[in-house]
Formats: sequence, structure tokens, C-alpha cells
Amino acid sequence: MSIPQENTSPLLRLAIQKSGRIAEETMDLLRKSGLDIPKNGRSLRARAKNFPLEILFLRTKDIPEVVQNGLADIGVVGQNVLEESQFPSVTEVFSLGFGECHLALAAPKNGNIQKTQDLQQRKIATSHPVLLQKFLDRKGLSAEIISMNGSVEIAPSLKLADAICDLVSTGNTLLANQLEEIETIFSSEVVLISMDERDQEKEEIFSDFLLRIQSVLNARKMKSVVMNAPKKSIEKIKNILPGLESPTVMPLEEKDWVAIHSVVREDEEFWENISQLKKAGACGILISPIDRIIF
Ligand code: AMP
Repeated sequence: MSIPQENTSPLLRLAIQKSGRIAEETMDLLRKSGLDIPKNGRSLRARAKNFPLEILFLRTKDIPEVVQNGLADIGVVGQNVLEESQFPSVTEVFSLGFGECHLALAAPKNGNIQKTQDLQQRKIATSHPVLLQKFLDRKGLSAEIISMNGSVEIAPSLKLADAICDLVSTGNTLLANQLEEIETIFSSEVVLISMDERDQEKEEIFSDFLLRIQSVLNARKMKSVVMNAPKKSIEKIKNILPGLESPTVMPLEEKDWVAIHSVVREDEEFWENISQLKKAGACGILISPIDRIIF
């Protein structure tokens, strides 16, 4: 009988949130990057079918530590979690462009805490004691920090604390608990993290992984724009849509007409530019999403 040999080829390990606000968007980003990750129900590990990647599904707070001790090579967390964890050699690789929120001080509406200075010698409940303490030190304030793991917003109504310091995304939770924001102490979004010095054996897999993720991030908010236009309008159109480098101009069967293709960011000026194109003589303008861009 032969003993199955363990596969010794290097495998990149990625730690991500098991469930919660950023779990779904992270999986969505990985899948859009072309990674075929099986749905394993309640399993806390999954191996990509088409890439040397294993995913570990963990509690958010544990992710920086797992990257620090080498059980995972990379991780996905909010910057607030990274800063709170205090592992100096675990650092941000790049932002993943979602999960924007801010850590804010808040107090009961119309109460006697209206501004940051009113927090002197008060009790503040938070699940971010490190970030809060740093903020208080910067402001020269002294307050008692009550550490909680969740449901921080309940603390003032239970008289457990006078104020809170918690993550705010839409602001609905503060509103529902009759709390009012006083000051933002930290702005956060979701980032990819790794050790400063990574395992050299896995560096090639790591850069292939980054290429895939980055290609999806590059394509977000970009649109492919194709149109027909009279030849005499080419220069005008080029000025309206400068494109990634320069637009592609192709001759059409109809004399004096061309097809123009460009890749354009969908920013505040996008629709104004599309009207300008029409005014410049363009017609049959096709606007399509782009899955990935590799620069
Ligand atoms: P919201 O009502 O959308 O402002 O969300 C506030 C609640 O969601 C608070 O209980 C926060 O602790 C939590 N929360 C908001 N944003 C995040 C985030 N990015 N990561 C984890 N928890 C969050």
C-alpha cells in the first residue's frame, strides 16, 4: 500500500473574515479575480481550484496575529483592526477599495457631552482601546476606557459609560441609539496585509495573486467607450476622451467615418463628456463595464 505523498509545492495562505461586513465583498473580489474557490459550507479552510492559494476563514481580530506568526502569508482586514492589533512588522500592502468607515466618538444626543474636551475624566466604552488611548494622549485628555467586544452603542443607556468610541458606516446605529457623533478619530478602509518580509519561496505566487487582484481594482469605475464619428471630429473627440493612453481609431467602410475606442473613468465629469461627444458628432456610443485591466 502506498502512503499518499503530501504536496510540497508552495501554497499562499490568505486569512479573511469568516463572517461579517467585509467577508462577502472579499470573497466577491477573489472570485472576480478569477480564483475558483469552492463553497465548503461551514469549513474554515478552502483551497482554490485553479491557483496555489488556501483561504483561512477567521475572526477578524485574529487575522493580524495569524499573519504575524506565519500561519497565513497575507490577510484582509480593516485598517482599524490592523492599527488596533499593534504588530509592527505586519503592514498594509494596498487598499482593496471597500469597507470605508470611521472610528468616532459619540455621546447621548442633547446631553452634557457636546465636544471632545467634555470627555475629560469621563468613561468611554469602545472595542478600540488602543486607538482611543492614542487619541486621548494626543489631545492631552484623561478618561476611563471601558473595553467591550461589541454592541458598544448600548453602553451609555446602561450607564456603563458616558460616551462611546465605535465604527460608524451609515450612522444608522448611532441614530437608533440616540447617540450623536462628536469627532472622528480614525478613518478606515479594507486593506491587504502581510509581513514586511515575506517567505521568498512564495514571492512569485504572491505577485501573481496581486496582479489578479489589482487588475480587478484597476477596472472598477472604468468604462469601455466605443463610438462612430466623422473623421474631421477625431481631434475634438480625443480632447474630450484622452483614454488610458491614446484612443484606438479604426477606419469604417463608410468613407470619412471612423470607430473610436477609449477606456474612461466614470467620474463626475463622465456624463458631461458623453454629451460633449454627441455634440462633436459621435453617434452609436457604446458604454460597457470592464472586468479587469492590467497596466
Ligand atoms: P452603521 O449603523 O452602518 O453606522 O454601522 C455601525 C455598526 O456597525 C457599529 O456597531 C460598528 O461597530 C459596526 N461597523 C460599522 N462599520 C464597520 C466595519 N467596517 N467593520 C466592522 N464593524 C463595522
